[in-house]
Amino acid sequence: MATQIPSLAIVIPCYNEEEMLPKTLTTMLSLRDGMISRGKINTASKIYLVDDGSKDKTWQILSSEAANNPALVAVKLSRNKGHQNALYAGLCTTTEDITVSIDADLQDDPQNIEAMVDEYLKGNDVVYGVRSARHTDTFFKRFTAEGYYHLMKKMGVDLVFNHADFRLLSRRALESLKEYDESNLFLRGIVREVGYPSSVVEYERQAREAGESKYPLKKMLSFAWKGITAFSTAPLRMITILGLLSGFASFSLIAWVLIIRFFTDNATPGWASVLLPLLFIGSVQLLCLGVIGEYLSKIYEEVKRRPKFHISEVIKKD
Ligand code: UDP
Ligand code: MG
Repeated sequence: MATQIPSLAIVIPCYNEEEMLPKTLTTMLSLRDGMISRGKINTASKIYLVDDGSKDKTWQILSSEAANNPALVAVKLSRNKGHQNALYAGLCTTTEDITVSIDADLQDDPQNIEAMVDEYLKGNDVVYGVRSARHTDTFFKRFTAEGYYHLMKKMGVDLVFNHADFRLLSRRALESLKEYDESNLFLRGIVREVGYPSSVVEYERQAREAGESKYPLKKMLSFAWKGITAFSTAPLRMITILGLLSGFASFSLIAWVLIIRFFTDNATPGWASVLLPLLFIGSVQLLCLGVIGEYLSKIYEEVKRRPKFHISEVIKKD
């Protein structure tokens, strides 16, 4: 595959990262220089920074740096579109042989990029960055994140355990990824669908050094649900099972009530036997309607075929 030295694109989505950017830029630029000097990547390699509609000075920093440094490309989105879309916009802008996506906060140690490129040079099209330890995450984050990966696996969704969006893609893997024209992007799931030879680079996830997480609990939950509904219909199947179970329970209850009524003298005009099934069946129905509604809303979003991003400005020095 790689007989010549490849060009590398590093794609970094940035949302309100003014505090982090100076360090991120220096780290990434020196990393790039180091890899060029060791003959791993060629001098056409670039760092793509996507400003996802930040409200702070992120764009001022990115645009002025990119205007003076040919190794940097600054891409501005028309508004905040969310991490997955910003990352996707960056990926779509690159033209290099390989792409590595990484967050701006350096929680995923960029030093591993070289190991990823080595894996690529061995013939792998996709290299997953996998968090081997999460001791810098809070207990809650670790518990929910790992529980989520297990749940997805149970539902038959093929995810790489503890892999987020730190990954390398070859040109052909990226071109294949772009053919998945889904509005609800859940890239870590789509990448598994794409296939091609792949391997894994393990690393320890660090704590965020500056600024705060742009993934508050609400966003995290919505992202988790997006992943489930985009890749699994198991919740719909569970509804059927729930319906069957509640049907069975109701029939047993009816049988029990009839037995009491006709074969014993204990039949009291019971509130419970009327009210309980009503409440139970009512709640099951509501739950089922809710889940069906969730899928319906995803279908609605998909059929609209809305563009995932608009680029308002690209700054580079050639
Ligand atoms: N991000 C983005 N758009 C958003 C939210 C986040 O581009 O709407 C970027 C953010 O700047 C960072 C990456 O996505 O580079 C991951 O966000 P963060 O580190 O806050 O998430 P966490 O690591 O806490 O899950
Ligand atoms: Mg982070």
